[in-house]
Amino acid sequence: MRLSEIGEFGLIRRLAKNVARGPGVIEGIGDDACVLDIGGDQVLLVTIDMLVEGTHFSRGISPRRLGWKALAVGLSDIAAMGGMPGYFLVSLAIPQSVSVEYVDELYQGMLDLASRFGVSLVGGDTVRSDAIVIDVTVLGQASRADVLLRSGARPGDLMLVTGHLGDSAAGLELLLKPAALDVIPARDASCADALIRAHTEPIPRVAESQAIVRTGGATAMIDISDGLTSEIHHICERSSVGARIWAERVPVSVEARALARTLDKDPLSWALDGGEDYELLFTARPGMVEEICKAVKEATGTDVTVIGEVLPLGEGIALIHEDGTAERIDAGGFNHFKAT
Ligand code: ADP
Ligand code: MG
Repeated sequence: MRLSEIGEFGLIRRLAKNVARGPGVIEGIGDDACVLDIGGDQVLLVTIDMLVEGTHFSRGISPRRLGWKALAVGLSDIAAMGGMPGYFLVSLAIPQSVSVEYVDELYQGMLDLASRFGVSLVGGDTVRSDAIVIDVTVLGQASRADVLLRSGARPGDLMLVTGHLGDSAAGLELLLKPAALDVIPARDASCADALIRAHTEPIPRVAESQAIVRTGGATAMIDISDGLTSEIHHICERSSVGARIWAERVPVSVEARALARTLDKDPLSWALDGGEDYELLFTARPGMVEEICKAVKEATGTDVTVIGEVLPLGEGIALIHEDGTAERIDAGGFNHFKAT
């Protein structure tokens, strides 16, 4: 059997099935980070993410932006658990022909982001290879009672997201087709900058996560790395529930809407399947929603939007359009090994 037949997530499920839960493992394979018992009321959170030249990036992209992104992915995973990131390690595979300045810039990107969150680089590994590979491990911690798993959603909960969805996909569109910039009216030029930044320098929602956790009102959480529909599937699968999302409530920024209009694209598909937004998708009891939205806004200035509701498992996962028609949501988003 080929990997393309089971896909990335099928492979992970298959690997996880053969792993016994060892001592001290509160949550192993299957969430944004593992949760490890270190004694006391704090738990250790660990996540690892790899960026590979040719798969995730090309040599032409700014090494500083690459470094920023390589660390942002892991910080976002720790935020998705309700934790605070503290330390990171970097494994670097790199050809000898690459300049020292390239590596300096790459690390500067990571260190710039790290300094925003008080996170320290504490180690790594370096090897020679034909393609550049950057593999970042992030360690974080949380109070045991505050950890938010993908598996905590219950029927009757509402589904919420932080910020806007689709900005990163819109920014990528501009980066891949610079000619698109020429058709953007001058008044929208700053919109284009904001969208490109959303793709190249995402700010992980660590502060928003802390504000959510402090309310004690969330039941499950994940970060949106592979696209909203993919992440909804992960929450529903791990929580054994269904869900209904209202299309008109999915928050799309004015910048993304403006670009979509100019390019004659559908901004909703950027929001649903674009990925790399690094926003948080979470569930909460309806009675806690107002308090959570207020707490996040006050602490961070970020809007939180209710986009749907959690249903019993048998109801499946559906997108409800403005005219009331329902569409089954397939797990879109990015899946390495998916048959094409
Ligand atoms: P995320 O997109 O949040 O980084 P992933 O989809 O990459 O999450 O991973 C989901 C879960 O599967 C995580 O617990 C991760 O540690 C685990 N995982 C992914 N790949 C492997 C692998 N090759 N071996 C063991 N665990 C893996
Ligand atoms: Mg994640």
